[in-house]
Amino acid sequence: MESKLQLYNTLTRRKEAFEPLVPGRVGMYVCGPTVYGDPHLGHARPAVTFDLMFRYLKSLGYKVRYVRNITDVGHLEHDADEGEDKIAKKARLEQLEPMEVAHYYTERYHRAMEALGVGSPSIEPHASGHIIEQIAFVQRILDAGFAYVSNGSVYFDVEKYNAAHRYGRLSGRNLDDIVANTRELDGQSDKRHSYDFALWKKASPEHIMRWPSPWSDGFPGWHMECSAMSTRYLGERFDIHGGGMDLMFPHHECEIAQSTAALGHDSARYWVHNNMITINGQKMGKSLGNFITLEELFTGSHALLAQAYSPMTIRFFVLQAHYRSTLDFSNEALQAAEKGLDRLMKGVETLAKIKPAAASTVDPADLERRCRAAMDDDLNSPMVISALFDWVRTINQLADGAQTITAEDLAALRATVDRYVFDILGLRDEKAAGSAAGRDYVTPLVEMLLAERLKARAAKDWAASDRIRDGLAAAGIRVKDRKEGSDWELE
Ligand code: ZN
Repeated sequence: MESKLQLYNTLTRRKEAFEPLVPGRVGMYVCGPTVYGDPHLGHARPAVTFDLMFRYLKSLGYKVRYVRNITDVGHLEHDADEGEDKIAKKARLEQLEPMEVAHYYTERYHRAMEALGVGSPSIEPHASGHIIEQIAFVQRILDAGFAYVSNGSVYFDVEKYNAAHRYGRLSGRNLDDIVANTRELDGQSDKRHSYDFALWKKASPEHIMRWPSPWSDGFPGWHMECSAMSTRYLGERFDIHGGGMDLMFPHHECEIAQSTAALGHDSARYWVHNNMITINGQKMGKSLGNFITLEELFTGSHALLAQAYSPMTIRFFVLQAHYRSTLDFSNEALQAAEKGLDRLMKGVETLAKIKPAAASTVDPADLERRCRAAMDDDLNSPMVISALFDWVRTINQLADGAQTITAEDLAALRATVDRYVFDILGLRDEKAAGSAAGRDYVTPLVEMLLAERLKARAAKDWAASDRIRDGLAAAGIRVKDRKEGSDWELE
């Protein structure tokens, strides 16, 4: 297969031609959610970005193995006051098995992703289900001499690693910057240096998520699961590693260090990072009162929201920006996305009703070329949307009779629009939905009524014509009279 896909590689800081290690197959790993809270606006962007990548790679004919992990060991966020793990704390307070808490939020995450049209990855491994692989990975780093055991915990020896390889390649930091920006420890730590990070932590007596290991009863350090699980499912070398920009340091930097220490080389060939969502120009955070869950967005139940926004509005909003650009959430921006999506879907509906002519005054290959070039240019979804909008104008001209199209060109145009709008951008017509099936019986009924109305008009029976139009309007169907016949759309 011939691919002209260019991807921006965060590691080399330039766009590179994408060539998989094994022709025709792609291995991709993306850091997934930590499941100790409701899925929120911040989850939408990486999920949609890498879903777009997954869909596009598949559409190019690659066989893609997409691994997105579930962080359920719960070491990512500690309660600032007590240093207690959040899953553990909630479980202790509510007398739940920690896995009940993780399961509850995993289910909610899956439901939100389904609403956003984010397809399921090929494999969704849980950190808690891969403790054996993580222990083995820690052992490999110890055997290679880049870690040390201290009081039952295992730490990565950053200084030793930095001398052999270079620490900070991804984030562009060097060890001196990191030393300058690391708080000094309070002397109680088992670490040799403040910048060393845990590969395995000995559990304190009250810590309830714990597993036996050669070093102590404890739990893996927060970067270990991704090194261990990507190696387990994609091998020691794979094509793409993705995640949000906020994970670049320390998480991905530490992943690179762990993999390089254990395997002698970095695992991932292309590192891809999506930019963050800000809210009215501010970073999202619980303490700022601008933390919005996806459920609140879908139902409009948050003080910052002027209305509810449908899942496809959120998806379209994310796709309207290039994944490496910042994206600022505001009611105005969301309302604009809602209108834009509506315009696009109406164009798709109009396209379904266009009748072919003997000759074409338009060239549908133009749309295919533009969409393909945009996606090949580092997944430039806003350029795809802009090409589609240009063609919505053309479609309206075709409906008005200002332009014409042959049956063959019409079929090609419909195929291109379907491929980019539904298969690659992953959008769905929410108004027509409720029922994909619903559309199928609504269309012939409406067409039949419009044919009756046309007969009434031909007979100058204006009362009957208006009755049919008003009846359709009451059912949420707007009739638009065209030069020849009439057209309709759902309101
Ligand atoms: Zn990760």
